[in-house]
Amino acid sequence: MIETRIKQSVRDVSDFPKPGIVFKDITPILKDAGLCHAITAALVVQLSGLNIDVVAGIESRGFLFGMALANALNVPFVPIRKAGKLPYKTIQQSYDLEYGSATLELHEDAILPGQHVLIHDDLLATGGTVVAASKLIEKLGAVVEGYSFLIALDFLNGRDRLHAFSANTFALASY
Ligand code: AMP
Repeated sequence: MIETRIKQSVRDVSDFPKPGIVFKDITPILKDAGLCHAITAALVVQLSGLNIDVVAGIESRGFLFGMALANALNVPFVPIRKAGKLPYKTIQQSYDLEYGSATLELHEDAILPGQHVLIHDDLLATGGTVVAASKLIEKLGAVVEGYSFLIALDFLNGRDRLHAFSANTFALASY
């Protein structure tokens, strides 16, 4: 079962990047080519009921399987990046972190009005990051079709914040 294989491969790193956080390190997954194939295939099956025109991946770990998924679905991939990284004209969305704030950016021509966008990241925690990504997509007149994660930390209730944009939230492994 894909959930078991992901949980067996992910490495928990305590107190990274700061005390009290248990970081879910997905780099052991990336070293296992067979598991990477299986994850991409499982994402395609899990999302088969959705109408996806574009996959948007969140910097940086959302790029890894986001691109693989877009390729498997034969649709475009677009990167959502941290401020100052994208070279062309961008739109911005700021969001609050535990201390301070951060900004995500998207190329203004990355997504067309009316397109249905699947947002992908490696992990759902509080949901703040993908809420900001959703606002970027709506600013361009596009539609959030759903969310896909390898891992969801359900004890942080991030899913609740996503209902305002889409009822479709999927994760391959939940804690
Ligand atoms: P959030 O906005 O709280 O949902 O945080 C999600 C973003 O932070 C994702 O891009 C994750 O990669 C990263 N993240 C948050 N918590 C963790 C964690 N415990 N382990 C690994 N990545 C995390």
